[in-house]
Amino acid sequence: MSSSSTLLEPARTLPVFGDYDVVVIGGGPAGLAASASAARHGARTLLIERYGFLGGMGTAGGVTNFAGLYGRRNGEMHQLVHGVVDELLDRLDALGGLNQPQDGMQGRIRVRSYDTSAYKCAADQLLIAAGVELLFHAQAAAVIMKGPRIDAVVIETKSGRQAVRASVFIDCSGDADVAAWAGVPHEIGDGQGSGLFPTTMFRVGHVDAAAALAAVGEFQAINRYMAQAQSDHPGRYQFPREGAILRPQIKPSEWRANVTQLKNAQGQAMNGVDARELSQGEIDGRRQIADYFHFLREQVPGFAQASIIEIAPQVGIRETRRIAGQYALTGQDILNSARFDDSMGINAWPMELHQHGRIEWGFPTDPLRAYNDLPWRMLVPQGVDNLLVAGRCASMTHEGQSAARASGACFVMGQAAGTAAAHSAGSPLVETDVKQLQQWLRADGAYIEG
Ligand SMILES: Cc1cc2nc3c(=O)[nH]c(=O)nc-3n(C[C@H](O)[C@H](O)[C@H](O)COP(=O)(O)OP(=O)(O)OC[C@H]3O[C@@H](n4cnc5c(N)ncnc54)[C@H](O)[C@@H]3O)c2cc1C
Repeated sequence: MSSSSTLLEPARTLPVFGDYDVVVIGGGPAGLAASASAARHGARTLLIERYGFLGGMGTAGGVTNFAGLYGRRNGEMHQLVHGVVDELLDRLDALGGLNQPQDGMQGRIRVRSYDTSAYKCAADQLLIAAGVELLFHAQAAAVIMKGPRIDAVVIETKSGRQAVRASVFIDCSGDADVAAWAGVPHEIGDGQGSGLFPTTMFRVGHVDAAAALAAVGEFQAINRYMAQAQSDHPGRYQFPREGAILRPQIKPSEWRANVTQLKNAQGQAMNGVDARELSQGEIDGRRQIADYFHFLREQVPGFAQASIIEIAPQVGIRETRRIAGQYALTGQDILNSARFDDSMGINAWPMELHQHGRIEWGFPTDPLRAYNDLPWRMLVPQGVDNLLVAGRCASMTHEGQSAARASGACFVMGQAAGTAAAHSAGSPLVETDVKQLQQWLRADGAYIEG
């Protein structure tokens, strides 16, 4: 049977799981902040997540690291993303799961790694304390429209296919699944068949911490060992990309490895919203990890007795669909430290373009304000009245997204989306009173300049 053949699915009557003020789809950084904020602002809120735990790429993708929370202001590094994320950091810390800040790129970036299991627990605690209802193992699969509004999202669960109704939906799926089904215009990747290349993450344990820190403790020092191994042993090691990132976790006997790169059969970025490519990507990622682990054990001080303690549950997807909203954040906005009147918070991460075989970084040119505002309009999709889209699938160009996809900006977007949704009272979200929204966000601890 050819893959283009189709079948008509018979119509069926669906049970309604519930009717909410706000339904958030996806429990990554954006969805966490969105649902916690909506519930705290009095909305009856449901979070739908396809896995049995929260964290999104941060847990399911094995990222284990927060980027974009800190940025350089007047020559000094500060935490510039605040609000819901502060409570998450506190809860992670209380569980012993949050590392001290780590600097890199000549002091231009600061990140914080964390323990994945602690993140899952801290996120549960945070949302339960906020009064969010959690529905795990539920995959959004379709929408039912009523004019320019989404009437219901259809979910697939172990209890069967059901419908969930709400006044406002917030798509935090990372892939803009709901927005795409609702007809919101969007682009996939770079719009030319490729995009930011995905990576399967893994962690290595039982490392000799002192030896490893001395050899590869500096950000990207591992790349010198890769170059040396290739010149000493021609043909023995094939690396999927330059610009490997190998960093110690909270206990430096454990390291995370961000080193693989997944291509499709055409050599372009594996497409994270193509079922066959996703499937092949999982296999390729694990094969690359096995190869890289040989190199680590054979060539890198401290790793001879190490073992792989986790290959991430799923391939790490950096970019798939990005919606067309009321404004698209651009690469120039990142480089020029853009300011916006409708700012909802800060993106403090530079452009990080994962291209074929390498990473291209792009830093803001102003050293005194090495970060940009995130405009509210990037959450408001074209054409659907009761939908917001937050996180890595919000309205950005390919270049802008390479920066604001980092967790820091996703927390900012989620908090703004959840707060606005809770107060929308049935009005189209494009009519949101942004000055009032900024007041609520500031009152809840968010940092907004201007
Ligand atoms: C390999 C890699 C390394 C990275 N490194 C860093 C880093 O060091 N620091 C950093 O801050 N950021 C890093 N990032 C980026 C960052 O992790 C993501 O961009 C960020 O997690 C995006 O947040 P999000 O909430 O928009 O989406 P996601 O984190 O992707 O979360 C989306 C959630 O929605 C769920 N979902 C998806 N579709 C559906 C559906 N149809 N129904 C129900 N649920 C659904 C998913 O299971 C997931 O939980 C990295 C990304 C990758 C891939």
